[in-house]
Amino acid sequence: HDLDAPFSTTCQDPVRNAAANPRENATFVMLTRNNELKPALQAIENIERQFNQWFHYHVLFLNNEAWDPEFVRALKTAVSGEATFEVLSEEEWSFPPQTNVEDARAKIKEQGDRGIYKGGLESYHHMCRFYSGNFYALEALKKYRWYWRLEPGVEYTCAITYDPFLEMARREKVYGFVVALWEVPETCPGLFRAVDDFRAAKKIPETPMWRAMINPSWMPWPIRRLRGWLGGEHRNRNGDTWNLCHYWSNFEIADLDFFRGNTYQELFRHLDRSGGFYDERWGDASVHALAVHMLLGPDQVHHFADIGYWHEPFFQCPGNAPGGQQLDLAALGDNSRSSPESEGAIGCRCQCPDDRRRNNRGICL
Ligand code: GDP
Ligand code: MN
Repeated sequence: HDLDAPFSTTCQDPVRNAAANPRENATFVMLTRNNELKPALQAIENIERQFNQWFHYHVLFLNNEAWDPEFVRALKTAVSGEATFEVLSEEEWSFPPQTNVEDARAKIKEQGDRGIYKGGLESYHHMCRFYSGNFYALEALKKYRWYWRLEPGVEYTCAITYDPFLEMARREKVYGFVVALWEVPETCPGLFRAVDDFRAAKKIPETPMWRAMINPSWMPWPIRRLRGWLGGEHRNRNGDTWNLCHYWSNFEIADLDFFRGNTYQELFRHLDRSGGFYDERWGDASVHALAVHMLLGPDQVHHFADIGYWHEPFFQCPGNAPGGQQLDLAALGDNSRSSPESEGAIGCRCQCPDDRRRNNRGICL
C-alpha cells in the first residue's frame, strides 16, 4: 500500500465532517504588511470559501509594524472564525543579539549587488530568520498545537472538505507540505554544512530521510573527504552535497511541538549564531526541510497531494476525478507549470458534479 496516500481522494460532505468532530487545537497564521490588504483579503476569502466556512478555525495575523485599523476591520469581517492581530517585538524581528549591524547591513547590500535572490532586502532576511525560529516561541501560539501557514495572494483551487488538522493528528503526522522544490543555491552556500555539523555534534544518526537530502557522490572517499575539509558550497565535512531539496514553506501544516521542542530550537540557535541568516540569505523553507529530514521519519511527513494550491510562480494541480473516483497519483507530479491559466490547469478546479447536485452547498466550486 501507499505509505503516504492522500487523506481523501473524494469530495466529502464538509458540513457533516465539521459536525462530526470537534476542532483541533489549531490556528491559521498569516504574516503580512498593511500594504498587502488586497492580496491578504483575497487569500482569506479564498480559504474561507474552500475550507474555513465549514470549520471556522482561528486566524492569527502577524505584523512587525502597528496594524492599520482599516486592515484589521476588513480582515476581521472576512474570517468566519476568530481573528487576532499581533505586533512582533523588535527582538522577534531583527538581527540576533550581539550582531554588528553595520557589518550585517554591508553584507546584505553586497548580496543585493551580486543579484542574490532577495538577498539585498534586510526585511526579507528578518522574515526568514523570524519564520525559522522566533515564530515558534510566540506567546500567541503557546496555546495551539497546530498551525497552517497562509500568505497574501495564495489561492486554493479545490474545496478542502475534511479537516487536515484532524487527519494529521489521527495519523501522527508532524509536517505537511504541498510543493517541493530546489533551493536557489546562491542564497545558502553554508547552510547544509551548518546543519550537518549540528547533527554530528549532537550524534544524531544519518537516517534514510537525512540521506534523501544528499546527492550521492561517486568519488573515492579520500577525495570526497578532502573536498569536504577544503569547504565548498553545500558540502558537509565528508564532502557530500545537499541536493537543495526543500518544501515550499508558504504552505505548511505542522505540529508546533516539534518546532518548539529542544532539538529544533537548539538547531535554530546554532544556525543563528553562525550568522548565515544575514551573511547569506538562508530561507526558512530550507531550514525547516533540513530539520524535518534530520529529525523525523518518513511516516511523519505528509504530502497533501489532494490540495490544489497556487503561489506565484508555481502551483500544485491535483487530478481530482469527477464523481469522487480515485485520484490519479501519477498525474500529480507536475507542480511546475507557470500559471494556473496555462494548459492543463483546468484539472485544478476540482469538479465534483455529483456532490454539487446532491447537497447544493457549493462544494467543490
Ligand atoms: P516569498 O514568498 O519568498 O517571495 O516572500 P513574500 O514576500 O511572500 O514574504 C513571505 C511572507 O512574509 C508573506 O506573508 C509576507 O507578507 C511576509 N513579509 C515579508 N516581508 C515582510 C515585512 O517586512 N513585514 C511583514 N509584516 N511581513 C512581511
Ligand atoms: Mn510569498
